[in-house]
Amino acid sequence: MKIDSNGNLILGTTVILITTLFLIAIFVFAASNYIANENIDSNENDNFKYIVDDYENNLEILGRESLYDAGEKVYNTFKLFDSKDQITKNLEKKLKAKNEEFEEKYDIKISPEVLSVENTNSPWKILFKVKLNIEKDNNRYFRIVEKNVSVEGLKDPLPVAKLSVASGVFKQGDKLNYKNALTRYMVLRHLDSPMSYLFATTPMYIKKCPYDPYIHHGDPGVLKDCLKKGYFHESADGSCYLCRLEGKGTCPHYGFEVFIQTHTPLTNDSISCSDHVVFNDHYPGQKINKHDIDSLILDSSHRKKYGLGDEDG
Ligand SMILES: [Zn+2]
Ligand SMILES: [Zn+2]
Repeated sequence: MKIDSNGNLILGTTVILITTLFLIAIFVFAASNYIANENIDSNENDNFKYIVDDYENNLEILGRESLYDAGEKVYNTFKLFDSKDQITKNLEKKLKAKNEEFEEKYDIKISPEVLSVENTNSPWKILFKVKLNIEKDNNRYFRIVEKNVSVEGLKDPLPVAKLSVASGVFKQGDKLNYKNALTRYMVLRHLDSPMSYLFATTPMYIKKCPYDPYIHHGDPGVLKDCLKKGYFHESADGSCYLCRLEGKGTCPHYGFEVFIQTHTPLTNDSISCSDHVVFNDHYPGQKINKHDIDSLILDSSHRKKYGLGDEDG
């Protein structure tokens, strides 16, 4: 009886032990299988993420090219009535080529919708919003992508959009020379001393002025360097890049302004030389230095903004 019960005990323990080991084995197998599946999924996700990231990076470059192309259209005598629409069309065309490339390369279908092209709170950046509809292996996703694209380094479209290429405006190094185009513009509008703006120059490429706060333009050598480099300045009154493309000298958006530099021995009062004043607001200014033929013609509120007093009264 005792041996029997001992034997039963051993047998019982063995069965429990084997069952436990068996269960552990099943669990380990299942778990390792599960982990392997997880890995496959996350590899797939990484790959997918890589493809979509690659596409998104292209968006920034293509957005920039779309701005550039709109500007070139203006420089090629086209008149843009809706710059956002033009930029959207440019981008859609470029994305179409990109979609074909991605379909071939990754077997992924991307159909993007350009949702908007907008100003931001910085006049140097344009915001692109694009919805990506993505289809891969019968799975569908969508993602909304936002990209800020810089306008720095692009040509300022305003002078040409405003006066047209036929006006005689010509390229002089990295500046534009207005020849007699501004003078004629001012004569037509009965503005003071139109001859002061004969052969006036303006920077051609949008560059953000590093002398910030702007009041430092009154410090020795700063204004001279700013004019030489052809810097642009933030301004609530100046027009934004998108409105410049449409030839608007001023707009409700936060924009920028640039000095139109005169080169004249005349010392008459004329209009102040900030471009939104020349093209829109038309209020008077005086030469900062009457004896300097390259002196800016500036009104008192702009003198204040840039820290430029009267050198010569
Ligand atoms: Zn400056
Ligand atoms: Zn605007």
